[in-house]
Amino acid sequence: MIQGFEANCRLQLQTELEQLQHTIIQSLVHGKHAAESELARQLLAKPVSNWPDLLTGNCPWCISSQLERLNAVLAALSQLELNLYGLCSDCECPIERAALLRDPASQRCDSCHNKNHR
Ligand SMILES: [Zn+2]
Repeated sequence: MIQGFEANCRLQLQTELEQLQHTIIQSLVHGKHAAESELARQLLAKPVSNWPDLLTGNCPWCISSQLERLNAVLAALSQLELNLYGLCSDCECPIERAALLRDPASQRCDSCHNKNHR
């Protein structure tokens, strides 16, 4: 049973996911190369969970930051499904709520995050 806090995070993640899908398709459709609109067509035929596979290696540089974000958002959503949401991917401690409020797709607790950015 998903509690209020997690339900709220899920809502934010789903909204962000929709925006990301929209941004990715728009940048591909308006790309200069025929291959980019072809890629957009392939993406639209697949569920969004398959997008990272389709994009990895094919992704034009202009959407690589969206791809990174897409991966993070999809990972957080699947953790919600598995009841593993909010656990640090390094030390498995619960991630601080403040960090999840800042970014509901956070994958690390503050101390692991700081270790990685030293
Ligand atoms: Zn940690």
